[in-house]
Amino acid sequence: MKTIMFNDEPYGLTDAILSGVKTQTRRIVYPSKSHPNKSFQDLTGMRFGRLIVICQDHVDAYRKIYWKCQCDCGNIAIVRGNALKSGNTQSCGCLKHEIRNVKHGMTNSRLYNIWSKIKSRCYVKTDPAYRRYGFRGISMCEDWEDNFIAFFEWAIYNGYSDELSIDRIDVNGNYEPSNCRWSTPKEQSNNRRSNIPITINGITLNLQEWCNKLKINRNTVNTRVRICGWSYETALTTPVRKHNECKSRRQHKSNDTD
Ligand SMILES: [Zn+2]
Repeated sequence: MKTIMFNDEPYGLTDAILSGVKTQTRRIVYPSKSHPNKSFQDLTGMRFGRLIVICQDHVDAYRKIYWKCQCDCGNIAIVRGNALKSGNTQSCGCLKHEIRNVKHGMTNSRLYNIWSKIKSRCYVKTDPAYRRYGFRGISMCEDWEDNFIAFFEWAIYNGYSDELSIDRIDVNGNYEPSNCRWSTPKEQSNNRRSNIPITINGITLNLQEWCNKLKINRNTVNTRVRICGWSYETALTTPVRKHNECKSRRQHKSNDTD
């Protein structure tokens, strides 16, 4: 058993995932008539993350109170009261150590690879994909950019699994929690296709927007384009016929690309 003294240790969501500890920061104030400092709060017996306060340890030159705490891992830690109450310190340091190990252990993982590839296509000008991302102003939110763990936590809480890929809901939007989801390759390609810009009579909308505007079923348009080989413009603007559509409309086939 070792005794550790420190003031601050960042504690985030991951700590809770790792430890399975529900953070209890009880705000019960024990009145102490004898204590000269009116705001004094006896923390004895309280739990802060992995730490349970055993007793008061000492008061420093700045009159800050330090508490002797028992960590779930067995170590004893001497921690400043404010650090306990603010949630900055939630263990003897073992949590921080575990996070570091997870972070390190993850560098070869699929999620880490996804995260670093996104960063690369958004920020590395020599990346072949940069033109389609960073160059077009697509970026990664600050929370994720320098913090793989934040991205990792979002992924786990939002249905990540190994067969899914990250997908931006708005393909012109950024990589950020509100615009990202995990989806199958099929869902992704549907999303991409529905976002192809299509210009008809000088108006540019994506496929789904055109379908809504012209009140035509998207599957009909997709069939006309992929199976019959029509252009998107013809597929969208030709009234729907009931029979032999492909055969009778082959003459509409054009060289338009999508
Ligand atoms: Zn510990």
